[in-house]
Order: sequence, then structure tokens, then C-alpha cells
Amino acid sequence: MTEILYPILYLFAAALYILALKWMNSPATARRGVWAGETGMLLAVVGTLLRFEVVEYHWIMLAFLVGAAIGAPLALKMPMTAVPQRTAIAQAFGALAAALIGTAELFEARPHGFTLVALTVEMLLGYVTFTASLVAFGKLQELLPGRPMTYRGQNIANLGVLAIAMALGVAMNQTVDPTAIFPFFVGFSLLFGVLLIMPIGGADMPTVIALLNSYAGLSASAMGFAFDNKLLIVAGALDGSSGLILSIIMCRAMNRSFTNVLFGAFGTLQTSAKGEVEQRPVRSASPEEAASILDAARSVIIVPGYGLAVAQAQHKLREMYDILSKRGVDVRFAIHPVAGRMPGHMNVLLAEADIPYDKMVEMDEINGEFPMCDVALVIGANDVVNPAAKNDPTSPIAGMPILEVDQARTVMIIKRGMAAGFAGIDNELYYMDKTLMLFGDAKSFVSSLVKELGAQVAA
Ligand code: NDP
Repeated sequence: MTEILYPILYLFAAALYILALKWMNSPATARRGVWAGETGMLLAVVGTLLRFEVVEYHWIMLAFLVGAAIGAPLALKMPMTAVPQRTAIAQAFGALAAALIGTAELFEARPHGFTLVALTVEMLLGYVTFTASLVAFGKLQELLPGRPMTYRGQNIANLGVLAIAMALGVAMNQTVDPTAIFPFFVGFSLLFGVLLIMPIGGADMPTVIALLNSYAGLSASAMGFAFDNKLLIVAGALDGSSGLILSIIMCRAMNRSFTNVLFGAFGTLQTSAKGEVEQRPVRSASPEEAASILDAARSVIIVPGYGLAVAQAQHKLREMYDILSKRGVDVRFAIHPVAGRMPGHMNVLLAEADIPYDKMVEMDEINGEFPMCDVALVIGANDVVNPAAKNDPTSPIAGMPILEVDQARTVMIIKRGMAAGFAGIDNELYYMDKTLMLFGDAKSFVSSLVKELGAQVAA
């Protein structure tokens, strides 16, 4: 009976993974996508537990309880701004698990032929992804220096280490006892993972994580071939290709060369640019003044950025959106693909506050609207609205597509001071005649705006 049931469960799981990816493509269906992915995973686990190879359940239950005891608090307590490093550490352990399963199979079953080839590929990718993800985690969590660590001839040295690991993999496939070569193979694979990430700056780590996700997926797919498990092949291939596509999208949105991500030694952008930038006069305004400008506007485009997420101002923003909409102001939200610190960051943040999906407009669509809008209100965003990307070919962000808020009639910017954003560079937008700086923490400034707008209604 179970021999019939598990392939059916696997089939449904694979279909749900595909639907999950499709639904996660749009904020309106993303929640359904997450449910579909989770249900698919549950069916896959149940299906696997029903397989005849599983003879004892107590070790599995123990591992499940230990894993859940670590994973549940991690998921509940982790702030959204720390999701990139959480993803990195989860990926490190996922890849290690895959590599260890391959290792156990190598020592237990002593495979040969195609199975050994698939296992070797799987272990290589698994061990490389393990250390690479750990280093990425260390950089994002600032346990390791975020700056790129480079030296002359680095790419050649790195490729040399990879070539040795691969040669040892080939040798394992040609000897009678592959386990004798195995420790060297693992050592070089682990070393390559570290070397791969060292030259990449902390600034580019989220893109790298998407790529490592792709490697972990390919490792799982190779494991599927080794174990003749079709669900693993499908799930791994989906993971591998979606991670790759995501990293390509992120590279485009940041105007980075994809080959640089693959070969490292890039990352001139630094997270360390926390210092103040050059002192020049700017025009600033109080919450009262800003509220009356918003009140008089017919159309307002709000640009959310990283600072909105840090301040957790999304719920207050929703209140402001409600007040303005009720008064007939056309309010929309402009979404830059790399605003914040992870793909989809702004969509998730605004969705959390139940801001209607049809009010969130992607960059390409909204850019033509700025010249017609009365007020562009930038909240905690900096690089994604910096005109230097268009006007200054020497800028570190030159060529990065931006939200063209400088075209709006009035620009208002909520931020705490004059500090630079992620790229560590000044922003000409702040010094334009039509710009008003609204200094303060995003949550408290938006709260004051809500209060002022409410008072104006009452009056
Ligand atoms: P930025 O990092 O450019 O700017 C954020 C601004 O928010 C800062 O200038 C800061 O100024 C302000 N800020 C911080 N905290 C608060 C607060 N509590 N209240 C109000 N303001 C605050 O953010 P963007 O979203 O514009 O750009 C994202 C950057 O991150 C891009 O360079 C992108 O390439 C990069 N990146 C994005 C990834 C992604 O996947 N989304 C991945 C990797 C990198 P002040 O301190 O003066 O308040």
C-alpha cells in the first residue's frame, strides 16, 4: 500500500513546488505560494517516512525535535532585516546535511559507476556550499570583516584549489577504495568554499547567497540521481534554477556583472559607510509643514527603503495612507527591486501592514509617473533614488536603475541625518531646491505626520 502511496505524495509535492514558485511571483498570491511550498514539503516528508527503507523512527523523531527546538525560535525571533544571514546559516546546514548523506552512502554502500559519479558531484557541491555559506553568514553578521579580501593571482589560486578537488573526485571514481582519497577530497572542497567567498564584499553577499542557494539545489538534484529519488531531482532542479535566476535579477537591478559574482573579487560597495557625508546646506521642514504639503497634494508617490524596515514604520505608514486616501489623495508606493537588504523586502514589509497590492508599483511602471506627481515622499531610502547612478559615470552605483524621484514637483525625504546609504556615497537629491529633508526616525516622523494630518481633519 505504502509503495503506491509514496510516489503519489511525491507527485503532489512536486506539483505544489512548481505552483509555489509561480504564486510567489506576485505579492497578491505570495502567501498562497508559501502555503503551497510548505504543504509540498510536508507531503514530501510524509512520503519519505512511508518508504520501505525506513525501518526505525525514533532517531528521526529525535532529530526532528532537536531541529524544531532550534529552528522555531530562530524563525520567530529573527528580525526581518537579518533574514539574509538567517538564510545563509540555514543554507550552510542544509548543504552540510546533503553532503553528509552522500558521505554515509559512500562508506555504507560503496557505490560505483554512475551512482558514484552523482554522489561525488553531490558531495563536492554540498561541502563547497557549506563553508561558502558559513563565510557569507560571518560577513553579513559582521563576525568577519565585510570588505573583500583580495590578493594578486587570487582567481588562479582559487581555480587551482577547485581543480584539485575535482581531480580528487575523479580519482575517487577510478580507485578500488574511494574512501582512502575521500578525506583529501573533502578538505579541498571545504577550502574552496572559503576561498570562493573571501574576495566578495559584504555588500554583495545577498546576491551571493542566492547563487549559493542554487549550488545547494544542484547538490540535492545530484543526490536525487544517486539515490534514484525523483522528487529530489525535481526539487533540486527547481531550487538550482530559481536561485540562479534570482541572482541574475539582483545583478541586473544593481548593475553588477554576473561573471563577477561567479568569480568573486568584486564588491567595491561597502557596508561601512556609516559616517556623515560632506556638510552642505539643505532645506528641512517640520512634521506640521510636511503634513500640510501632503494634504494639499493630489498625487503622492511613497518610496520605501531600508530605513523604513529598520524603524518598523510600516503600520504607521498604513495609517497615513488611509488618511490621505480617504481625502481623495492618490497614494501609490514605488518598489525598487533592491530596496532594503533582500529581494522582495519592501513588498513583504508593506504587505505586513496590509497595504493593498495594487498600490505597490514596480520601478519600470512608476518611473514615467514621477513628473506628474505632486509629492515624492522617500522614507528611509537612499541609493535607490540617487541620481548619481544616471548622471555620474564614476559613481560606484553608475548604471544602476533608480526610481526617478528627482522628476517629481516636490521631494520630501525622511531620514535621521545626512548619513550615506549602503553604497556609502552622497546624494545630490538632498541639495535640490525642490527637496525638503524631514529629519527623524521613520516611525516617529510618520507618527507625527499621522497626528498632524488627523488634527487638520479635525480643524
Ligand atoms: P540605503 O541603504 O541606500 O539607505 C537607507 C537610508 O535609510 C540611510 O541613508 C539611512 O540614513 C536611513 N535610515 C536608516 N535607519 C533609519 C531610520 N530608523 N529612520 C529613518 N531613516 C533611516 O537603502 P535603499 O533601500 O535606498 O537601498 C538599498 C541598498 O542596499 C542598495 O544599495 C542595494 O544595492 C543594497 N542591497 C540590496 C539588496 C536587496 O536584495 N534588496 C541586497 C544587497 C544590497 P540615516 O542614517 O541618515 O537615517
